Amino acid sequence: MSNKPKNISLRAAEAQLLKIMRPGLHFYQKWTCAKCGERVTGNTPDLLFEQGLHEDCGYITDLRETGCGYSVMASGKAAFDYLDLISTRKKHG
Ligand SMILES: [Zn+2]
Repeated sequence: MSNKPKNISLRAAEAQLLKIMRPGLHFYQKWTCAKCGERVTGNTPDLLFEQGLHEDCGYITDLRETGCGYSVMASGKAAFDYLDLISTRKKHG
């Protein structure tokens, strides 16, 4: 496992998400299972948990210890707004 996914602290994830979240944008929490090492994506959108259950192996990772990541999903207008946000590109007309 040389290419480890990056985890940030829960508080850092929360702070980042507070800045980017808007209607039409959703996120899913991700973390690395502390038992089996698998990358897990939570199935509850728009919430950050302090404990992450890996359903495949049943282990609960303490995300306050390990930190977490997230992936963002956007649809419709929110997707374009989000792209604008991350590219800091000016809108046409
Ligand atoms: Zn696991």
